[in-house]
Amino acid sequence: MPATAKLSRCKLTQLPTPVEELRTLSSKLGGPKILIKRDDLTGLALGGNKVRKLEFLLADALAQGCDTLVTLGAAQSNHCRQTAAAAAACSLKCELILNGKKPELPQGNLFLDELFGATIHWIERPQRAAKSAELVQQLKTAGRKPYLIPVGGSNGIGALGYVTAVTELMEQLDKRTINRIVFASSSGGTQAGLVVGARVAGFKGAVTGIGIDKDDRDLNIYEQELTDIANDCATRLGTNDRFTPKDFEVVRGYAGAGYGMVGDLEREAIRLLAQTEGILLDPVYAGRAFGAMLDLIRKGQIAKNETVLFWHTGGAPALFAYVKDLIGS
Ligand SMILES: *Cc1c(COP(=O)(O)O)cnc(C)c1O
Repeated sequence: MPATAKLSRCKLTQLPTPVEELRTLSSKLGGPKILIKRDDLTGLALGGNKVRKLEFLLADALAQGCDTLVTLGAAQSNHCRQTAAAAAACSLKCELILNGKKPELPQGNLFLDELFGATIHWIERPQRAAKSAELVQQLKTAGRKPYLIPVGGSNGIGALGYVTAVTELMEQLDKRTINRIVFASSSGGTQAGLVVGARVAGFKGAVTGIGIDKDDRDLNIYEQELTDIANDCATRLGTNDRFTPKDFEVVRGYAGAGYGMVGDLEREAIRLLAQTEGILLDPVYAGRAFGAMLDLIRKGQIAKNETVLFWHTGGAPALFAYVKDLIGS
């Protein structure tokens, strides 16, 4: 029995997501062999990686008798869209705290947040943490039972979604081997879960997160956050595995002008995958990570004789909020 079988989980996904081979792209590049894990197709509300985390977070919220999900993020947060949909699917209320000011016209993920019936609060980023504590207090005073989900659903509970995802992948690969998993890394739940999952499943290849944020903090702060999430996750699993910052590979240098700022790297990657394979990437996360992977291949840092799996984490609804940045290239 997998270690996660005893942890409660609220079914929101259509699993397993497909694993496909990008044959046309691989031959165009002259190698390596590239597989893609389609977590853009997790099933709920246009998919994405947050649905896997939300299955465990929602089960915890329901077990605690909560009636309202509270979470926070950017205006085009995929996590907030998936949380709003999960709340609707489980008959819970949803309150979102989004960075910045309300735009005149809601587009992309923000439009979907509204369709799912979420209540939206706008706040400048530096005041965001204080605002979430205040909102939770206000909801309690009003007799509600709020459940606060951290940015990106990234804590030890959310990360369980990616521990189970590794087991799922290993079963799908059967006897095929891969040398490396590449994906977009930002709030850490995905990478922490993948690394814990790799340890549990005995996967020996590289787990390469592409840092998509312009991270001006000390170099190891993100690795420490990943370590903390992974150790909390391992404790919940009941395994004796423990992690240190050295267990996490984060590739930096591909964040361009910063979070959500589209450049040539993303534009080229999005067009290339769309036109060679008919698959959509997003402008903020997967497009940047895929562009970084292409660059690592061209530079030989990912060798032509490797088999690489790109873990597609979703996000395409944001394309519609970035049309101006994406057309004409
Ligand atoms: C949130 C998100 C990520 C990053 O996942 P983390 O667990 O926050 O590191 C990657 N891709 C997409 C599309 C996302 O929405």
